[in-house]
Amino acid sequence: MEYIDPHIHMISRVTDDYHRMAQCGCVAITEPAFWAGFDRGSAEGFRDYFHHLVDVEPRRAAQFGIRHFSWLCINAKEAENVSLSREVIALIPEYLERPNVLGIGEIGLNKNTGNEAVIFQEHLDLAAKTDELILIHTPHLEDKLKGTRMIIDMLKGDSRVKPSRVCIDHVEEHTVRLALEGGFWCGMTLYPVSKCTPARAVDIIEMAGTERIMVNSAGDWGKSDPLAVPEFILEMRRRGHPESAIRKIVYENPLQFFRQSRRWAEPFSLLNRQEG
Ligand SMILES: [Zn+2]
Repeated sequence: MEYIDPHIHMISRVTDDYHRMAQCGCVAITEPAFWAGFDRGSAEGFRDYFHHLVDVEPRRAAQFGIRHFSWLCINAKEAENVSLSREVIALIPEYLERPNVLGIGEIGLNKNTGNEAVIFQEHLDLAAKTDELILIHTPHLEDKLKGTRMIIDMLKGDSRVKPSRVCIDHVEEHTVRLALEGGFWCGMTLYPVSKCTPARAVDIIEMAGTERIMVNSAGDWGKSDPLAVPEFILEMRRRGHPESAIRKIVYENPLQFFRQSRRWAEPFSLLNRQEG
């Protein structure tokens, strides 16, 4: 089955991962800017990273027929440094018109601190002024519920933000309804440890339904699985869910959300079908 992985950090993955993802049906991925596993020393480090996201990865993905898109920001962990964050936010506009950039993300909270909240709101301001989609990282484990509530309050506090143009990622059993009831899109991250296993994600689908929800691998430098979305597809089939419901979650929903960006480009396979 063709699928889209809406959240994966390919900068941390090898080229063989692209090959295997393509073999499993992956036609497009989107890569949010994130914490690289270390704090960068200056805004220039982010300039190099943004160059990688808008230039290097799209070419590497295209070799396997996969469309690559990216999101730009300074992540919540490094956002604790307010002056560095402001320098990085000032860099973003010059990259926003690059053809593969879908918007601002993954912004959010890490430890739910005041500094993180200030920088989160400054990112929202940039997204509103430039009319960009927004991708949100919610905190891990014990900070998740409080952090998700804080994030939704800040989103609702800015009247320029349209919930249908925001995806709240890493939702779990206790946060999925907060996101959906607020009118936002949401993403479930499938991880071998922490976050959702494929089985837990299917449990959540059975509880929350298939509207405005997608699943991703969030593959990165840690223990993670770039083929997590195909694992989810197998688990959905094992439980007897119809192919149409599976396709909606792994393909049609991400397409519907991403098509709101003026820089989205359709998967190569879809274009070829339309021409044939
Ligand atoms: Zn991520």
